[in-house]
Amino acid sequence: MSSYQDIIETYRLTREQRKAERRERKKELYTLIPRLAEIDLEMSQIGAQISQSILKNPVQSEQLLLKLKRQLESLKSEKAVLLTDHNIPANYLEIQYACSKCKDTGFTEENARCTCFTQKLINKAYEMSGIEQQLEKQNFNHFKLDVFSTEILPKEQLTQRDNMKRNLSEAENFVREFPSGHNMLFYGASGLGKTYLCNCIAKSLIDKGYSVIYQTPFTIINIIEKKTFTEKDNPLIQLAYSQLFEVDLLIIDDLGTETANSFTISEFYNIINTRILNGKSTLISTNIKLSEIASFYNDRIDSRIKGHYELLKFFGPDIRWEH
Ligand SMILES: [Zn+2]
Repeated sequence: MSSYQDIIETYRLTREQRKAERRERKKELYTLIPRLAEIDLEMSQIGAQISQSILKNPVQSEQLLLKLKRQLESLKSEKAVLLTDHNIPANYLEIQYACSKCKDTGFTEENARCTCFTQKLINKAYEMSGIEQQLEKQNFNHFKLDVFSTEILPKEQLTQRDNMKRNLSEAENFVREFPSGHNMLFYGASGLGKTYLCNCIAKSLIDKGYSVIYQTPFTIINIIEKKTFTEKDNPLIQLAYSQLFEVDLLIIDDLGTETANSFTISEFYNIINTRILNGKSTLISTNIKLSEIASFYNDRIDSRIKGHYELLKFFGPDIRWEH
């Protein structure tokens, strides 16, 4: 599959780039602290001496070996002290991998496909390649509660801000406890922060190394139709479909905006139900009223959602999401 090859190539480029960045950091550091260059040179010379003496005469060189190892230790601590004195983190000269689990190879030590590889395949299949940049802006760190009204609204128990505070804290718990098999439904009119909160959750979990599909029902249906009818043999479509069941978190954004028919309804039921049975979390946002889920879909979807999802309401005046 060519997407597969493309991704392998991206990993290679990432590794090259990260290595080059480390070389650059090293150069800067040597200019800043010339003693470091000397230490590194001495350390590599001692290292060479150690391997030589082991090869030559393992028994008689024991004393020498001990001496060399002590020298090495003292150089190491001198280096650590120098770095601390200059406020430089101890791992500054190590390669900073984008994914520490697979060191940007795409495969774990057990030779299994890393989650980051699965996520890249998902991004390709769902054309989500821009998602990371997009999520950079909307995450928990940028969440501002003060844009929400503190006015008490008729028929509501909480002010919009207090309600949002509660929703935010539930979202943070969801991320903290992940993977818990917990499901959430965000419901309420548009412009009230549902998508923003979905973005925060997606961003945090992708950063933690979980795989996430974040899509509108329209795109999901498109994948299901391709997998069932037009592109049965396309491996990327097969993966995109199977990930609807297997991905760590499935986010369906804006459920109810699609044209529901018996085919899509039974597919959605299958996905929602299978994920509940397998303890895989799903997050749904919708503009449909709670009382209308059954009539828009059917009783079975309605009862799965109401029985297995935490229902979080969004209400109040529309917010302009431009921060
Ligand atoms: Zn990885």
